[in-house]
Amino acid sequence: MPFRLSLVVAAYNEEASLPAFFERTIPEVEKVTQDYEIICVNDGSTDATLDTFIAVRASNPKLKILDLTRNFGKEAALSAGLDHTSGDAVIPIDADLQDPPELIPELVAKWREGNDVVVALRRDRSSDSFLKRSFASLFYRVIARLSEVPIPTDAGDFRLMDRRVIDALRQVPERTRFMKGIFAWLGFRQAHVTYVRHSRAAGTTKWQIGRLWNLALDGIFSFTTLPLRIWTYFGLAIAFFALVYMVFIILRTVVYGVDVPGYASIIVLILFFSGMNMIGLGVIGEYLGRIFVEVKQRPIYLVRDAIGFEHAHGRGAGKDDAQHHDRVGEREAQDGHGW
Ligand code: UDP
Ligand code: MG
Repeated sequence: MPFRLSLVVAAYNEEASLPAFFERTIPEVEKVTQDYEIICVNDGSTDATLDTFIAVRASNPKLKILDLTRNFGKEAALSAGLDHTSGDAVIPIDADLQDPPELIPELVAKWREGNDVVVALRRDRSSDSFLKRSFASLFYRVIARLSEVPIPTDAGDFRLMDRRVIDALRQVPERTRFMKGIFAWLGFRQAHVTYVRHSRAAGTTKWQIGRLWNLALDGIFSFTTLPLRIWTYFGLAIAFFALVYMVFIILRTVVYGVDVPGYASIIVLILFFSGMNMIGLGVIGEYLGRIFVEVKQRPIYLVRDAIGFEHAHGRGAGKDDAQHHDRVGEREAQDGHGW
């Protein structure tokens, strides 16, 4: 049965990795099928990433290019790419060759056996720094306890998804794109293959510790409301102890009369419970902030230019699509790129 394969590459300042990426990836894809597309998302790069895409497209028209208006972050860039795929099977893959393209035939084989999702699990993460590894393992332990859907430990975004999964994904409109969690939430029939994750081929990682921290918070706060509920129990426990203590104080006063000490304990209690109040407010704030972002209903990403698409159907691109297409069309006529 013939099928079409879509690859999605989100790239942010990846000019150094891209030539090797295409050199290694395209032959792997062509081993599997001749009917394929590679959706290249330029996530607001400040280097020659877009030019590299355009140059490679000149010799391989199966590349389609989405140029976002600025850097929206990997999760949004990935959504942009996924929204614009037309394949029966879709594989998001990193541009830095950390997701080995040699795995593509294996992913496709498992998909053809009837699985909707084939996840590539990292067998060892020794290529990541010690700090990142420890942080990741802590995060996964926390979220495994908190989240209602199990989020796999060693799965990244590298996976194959059936068209059905992509269509389901497009029905998840939330703005906080914690993709790992969303993928897990979708369900479907899953299989996996394992691989060893190597270090980046070229360039530098786009993740700073701050960004990872924010991603972790996104993961927790958008996949569980448990932090909110904790405060109810905490409040109940405190109220209970306060009641017991009150009875104790009253009895003691009745039996032994009034005495004045207690300065230290009062200060400590005030500081402790003010801190607890603040944390409780902060947790509510986290959710409130997320609700604010959701109700604003801003698009997840904006497309400045879409090159090589017959029909654009981006949720993020919205109603400007038609205009984009006219513009792209004009460009073709002018400089005869044959896009
Ligand atoms: N990326 C992106 N936008 C960003 C950050 C990263 O599109 O704001 C892309 C990046 O170009 C790469 C992939 O996401 O193709 C993974 O990024 P990176 O290798 O820096 O992350 P790591 O592998 O260290 O988790
Ligand atoms: Mg990487």
